[in-house]
Amino acid sequence: MIRLHYRSVFAALVALIVVASGVATAAPRPNIVWIFSDDHACNAIGAYGGRLQPENLTPNIDSLARDGMIFDRAYVGNSICAPSRATLLTGKHSHLNGKFDNRGGFNHDQQQFQKILQKHGYQTAMIGKIHLNGAMQGFDYWEVLPGQGRYTNPQFITAEGKTQYEGHSTDIVTDRALNWLDNGKDDSKPFMMMVHYKAPHRNWLPAPRIMEKFRKRTFPEPDNLFDDYAGRGTAAHKQDMSISRTMTMPSDLKVTPGSDRAAYLAEHKLEGDDLIRWKYQAYMQDYLGCVAGVDENIGRILAYLKEHNLDRNTVVMYSADQGFYLGEHGWFDKRFMYEESFRTPLVARWPGVIKPGQRNDDLVQNIDFAETFLDIAGAPIPEDMQGESLVPLLKGETPDDWRKSLYYHYYEYPAVHSVRRHEGVSDSRYKLIRFYGIDVPDGEEWELFDLKNDPSEMHSIYDDTKQSARIKELKAELERLKKYYQVPEDGGLPLRGTASDEKKPNANAKTLKFEFKQSANVNAGSAPWLPGRGIQLTVPLTWNGKDGVLIAQGGASNGYALWIKDGLLHWTVTRNDVAATISGKSKVPSVQFTVTVRQEKSGEATLAIADLQVAKGNVGGAFPAQPFDGLSVGQDAGSLVREFATNKYDDKIGPVQILLIE
Ligand code: CA
Repeated sequence: MIRLHYRSVFAALVALIVVASGVATAAPRPNIVWIFSDDHACNAIGAYGGRLQPENLTPNIDSLARDGMIFDRAYVGNSICAPSRATLLTGKHSHLNGKFDNRGGFNHDQQQFQKILQKHGYQTAMIGKIHLNGAMQGFDYWEVLPGQGRYTNPQFITAEGKTQYEGHSTDIVTDRALNWLDNGKDDSKPFMMMVHYKAPHRNWLPAPRIMEKFRKRTFPEPDNLFDDYAGRGTAAHKQDMSISRTMTMPSDLKVTPGSDRAAYLAEHKLEGDDLIRWKYQAYMQDYLGCVAGVDENIGRILAYLKEHNLDRNTVVMYSADQGFYLGEHGWFDKRFMYEESFRTPLVARWPGVIKPGQRNDDLVQNIDFAETFLDIAGAPIPEDMQGESLVPLLKGETPDDWRKSLYYHYYEYPAVHSVRRHEGVSDSRYKLIRFYGIDVPDGEEWELFDLKNDPSEMHSIYDDTKQSARIKELKAELERLKKYYQVPEDGGLPLRGTASDEKKPNANAKTLKFEFKQSANVNAGSAPWLPGRGIQLTVPLTWNGKDGVLIAQGGASNGYALWIKDGLLHWTVTRNDVAATISGKSKVPSVQFTVTVRQEKSGEATLAIADLQVAKGNVGGAFPAQPFDGLSVGQDAGSLVREFATNKYDDKIGPVQILLIE
């Protein structure tokens, strides 16, 4: 009797569930797993058939492409880390979301796709690098790297505070994501999980297990590794992102005393082109080792989805914040509208919707991602987002009126790598670029490329009289796009510095003396011009036992700070996002005294109290770029050179004398 009773209840329940699910939806709304890396060039992905394809670097990304769709013409609107992420969340170009460069703040209160997804029943999670200061909004769970994040034993910020994990950043971001799927996810809701790797961003530090393997490999060189920039304008000539000049020995190339690389260099005494070739190989070993780590970890995510029967109803997408130069034009880094950094990878797998093995060559841009997520989820798409949903493309149904051209605008100058501000239009056959704030009579220079006949963009044909009709058309198209995307007349971000700054005596003087009083706070243009120079600071002060910053210029990317903590003096220099500190070993006196910091162009630095040297060390070299931030005495104003327990100095300083050393 009892058994029968149970059985009938069970049968009724089954019937009820079948009916209920049939009424609710034929198919539950799909989950979305968005996997994003940093600085991953298409040339380093097998499925793109890129230059480095024979090395079979990315089997898991390639499998996504095989099972789904790969986009051959995916691009960004502003090729740099933080602005790209702001566009990802807002579906808007930089001038509308307000995040122009890596320095300014991000307004988290604005509309973002994840807030809308959340309202429409999705559970949302963000794990890894987001590079936008401040608490995330619209995520049920977030655990992000502070700023650029660290490769080794990375710290994370959550809504509750900071945590730290032991291991390699790429592995740990995956661990945290899988942990959320295991323990954080609410199974009654579909989810959107963003997994954002720091790798392969500079300084390209692979996990030790991978590094070992890649140090034994050699990689093909690009044809234009020794580009001399003939046929292009000021911007290409004056950038500071070359393997030859900008790539540093200790940090970028891991030439530490006692290392195999240091031994090799000592033995072979390489110089000129041979040294560039060697640096290129070292760079590729480390960069591609990082890529291999990302791919391996994507494999872990795909395996998890399969094991937990989530793979059939989960859209998996892979992309990066932009591309990167892997020696093309002799460069690393990004920023330029040239193809290697303008273009970004995009691969999507959606079982039952995307037919396996599709290649798409429509023009898509990172402004499209937010709308695509909303469309996949069946959530409403706000009118003011600037992209287009890619869902019709994923279904193989590109609309007839799909866009035929792209708008691009890069803003971060003066800044690290010295890439001039520029905007442009590309229809994927021709590309027109306007560099502005250039030291020429009308302040701008144009370049035009024929991407079919000159895919490496080695020869601008802007001055070719045969192109005048085409130039006119492209300029009209650029104007049309600017109107369509509501770009303000000045680009939205007034020029800070550029041409007029370079004319300042400050930039060209051989040696220059400055004097700054306590509480001085001067802008970047009037601050000492640091690139390529050493510096000497003489700082008279009195000390009442409290910590604080004596003087600082610039911020976390480039600059310096002289500061006191627990009575000890510290000199911190940031160069291309890498900080080096030398510290005094004896306490400062409780009387009036003078601190002298002297840093040579080689990076050799000394710290002295009165005339007594208290610290000595090398911070890595001359300053690579003029900091975006100004100079302040008695605190570190604006972007911070580093975190300080106490920022404002509480006693008398100054006047500070600064001498630039040529
Ligand atoms: Ca990046």
